[in-house]
Amino acid sequence: MGKTVFDGGSIDASDALFLLELKGNARYDLFHWANRIRLERLGPKVTTCSIISGRTGKCSEDCRFCAQSAHFNTDVQSSVASEADMIQAARRAIENGVDNFGIVTSGKRLTDDDIKELAPVIETIQQEGNISCCGSLGCINREQAGRLYELGIRHYNHNLETSRSYFPKIVTTHTYDDRINTVKAVKAAGMEICSGGIIGMGETLQDRVDLAVTLRELSVDCVPINFLNPIAGTPLAGAEPVSPLTALQTIAMFRFVLPDKHIKIAGGRENCLRDMQSWMFYAGASSTMMGNYLTTTGRDIQQDQQMLKDLEVL
Ligand code: SF4
Repeated sequence: MGKTVFDGGSIDASDALFLLELKGNARYDLFHWANRIRLERLGPKVTTCSIISGRTGKCSEDCRFCAQSAHFNTDVQSSVASEADMIQAARRAIENGVDNFGIVTSGKRLTDDDIKELAPVIETIQQEGNISCCGSLGCINREQAGRLYELGIRHYNHNLETSRSYFPKIVTTHTYDDRINTVKAVKAAGMEICSGGIIGMGETLQDRVDLAVTLRELSVDCVPINFLNPIAGTPLAGAEPVSPLTALQTIAMFRFVLPDKHIKIAGGRENCLRDMQSWMFYAGASSTMMGNYLTTTGRDIQQDQQMLKDLEVL
């Protein structure tokens, strides 16, 4: 018999699908066990992160969920954050006791000039101390990853978004392998990779399992799970949101497939989980984003801090 999740093993794809197909009260048992795995493998502390959009909108890519794509007619105004704005946002995150601060830019690929422009901001944030500065700057190659590492970036976010087979229905302007190559470049440079996806884009349960298994194969360090927040003007504007229990069930499945990795709940949790937001940790999440997202607002950061205090997970 193979190892169980509690002795260092994990589950296979067919068992992961079984977990997503559970109905009724069995789902509450699933959450209980996902929480036990989280506590045994990662401990009770929950980590947090906040982001700022360094460059918003006018993106050449056609990710069908994204308000920043130039292919769709949305309300998003393009803009570039000033150095002062980014540093101020990082200071706010430090004051709020957030663990990681991410700079996110729209666009397919980071250029060498972008890195030169961001370098002084990253250096200033590193000097502030007490926070880890992360990048989510699009596709990068091995050399660029090395340059970011030299600047002090230790975590890089680049999501796969969904399964390999569903990806072409979501994005046509770049490939799944473009994304995987970035994940590999980040790891090769010695940074930790934060890579996950979005739930609720019309994908099947099998697609959700396939995403989790692919992330395990890539040995990612942290898995951000977003729940689609349908945005007017994007092709997914009319998508049906996943129910709170389905969202929690999905988090639990990721915990079973990736028992010792951080599972971070990111965009869309407010709309999707509503009053059940604090349940995300009981379903196996070990990390969450706080504050605003890229083009949508999160709930007040004080409410999230109160939730974490009440749960005694800080
Ligand atoms: S998700 Fe990123 S790459 Fe895709 S359209 Fe939005 S900003 Fe561009």
